[in-house]
Amino acid sequence: MSLQCPRCNSPKIASFHRAMKIAAAVGAVGGAARGASAALAGGQIGATVGAFAGPFGITLGSISGAILGGLVGGVGGCALGAQLGDKLDRHVLANNLCLACNHRFNLPV
Ligand SMILES: [Zn+2]
Repeated sequence: MSLQCPRCNSPKIASFHRAMKIAAAVGAVGGAARGASAALAGGQIGATVGAFAGPFGITLGSISGAILGGLVGGVGGCALGAQLGDKLDRHVLANNLCLACNHRFNLPV
């Protein structure tokens, strides 16, 4: 994406990502929480699959299922939060700064 200043058409634009970082962190936490419930389900599925391999398989299956569920939830939530925050930064919070004339502006939606 190429940015240009709406006032002086300079292409030298700096953008801040305050909302993006916050939203990404919030998203990661929310995603991990959601992932935790997915992890429980994943653990159960893993245990069921692992049951065919005996007691050791049940343990191994539960653990790997739980880890996978937590990971997927956390990463997915973080990516979603970052996307949302990036939109807030660029379109709502005027976090684009022209380095030529110091004009701060929103991107058109
Ligand atoms: Zn400018």
